[in-house]
Amino acid sequence: MQTQAPSYAVRPPKRIGGSLSLDFVNTEAWRGDVPQRGERLTSYGELALWAGHLGIVDRAGARLLAQEAALRPEAAAAVLATALRLRGALGRILTAPAAAASEDLAVLNAVLARAPTRTGLAPAKGGFAWTMTDTDPLEQPLWPVVWDAAELLVSGRAERVGSCSDPDCAWVFLDTSRNRSRRWCSMADCGNRHKARRHYERSRAS
Ligand SMILES: [Zn+2]
Repeated sequence: MQTQAPSYAVRPPKRIGGSLSLDFVNTEAWRGDVPQRGERLTSYGELALWAGHLGIVDRAGARLLAQEAALRPEAAAAVLATALRLRGALGRILTAPAAAASEDLAVLNAVLARAPTRTGLAPAKGGFAWTMTDTDPLEQPLWPVVWDAAELLVSGRAERVGSCSDPDCAWVFLDTSRNRSRRWCSMADCGNRHKARRHYERSRAS
């Protein structure tokens, strides 16, 4: 049975991936534990909220996406289905780029092909944003995700993608440590749980 995860409105995403596409893969909790997997993208609205938290759209933009989804529920459901397929493909490609399956690359390439042309830069709150050609706004949350994934792959940085040493967690991250020693998605989370468990096992053994 899947765990019903809380909405991103009440529990914001933990940005531990170090790269947008990796944070996107981590929208599934307990990735490695099939029966306990926690789906956070339970509706298009959650995808829009996630995009808001990750800075893909601002708060007004996230609201506009939710309004658009309410007007076009079938199109929104189709984008959500695409998002989930894309997430599965990215999870596999980015953790083992050398073994990327052509079907997974096709999923990534299909979204890349629909993503708008980036035609310039415009000042935005806290920096700059791309100016883009018009395309279906509902897919907007996915574009920066596929651009980021493509840049990770093209730059070779995807070789630095690691996953949490807790096999049930399996959250992914860009390991920027010098000797690639990062083990945990978060020391405060899986790292501490592991330490506590080891301590418990040791004290029981003695
Ligand atoms: Zn973890």
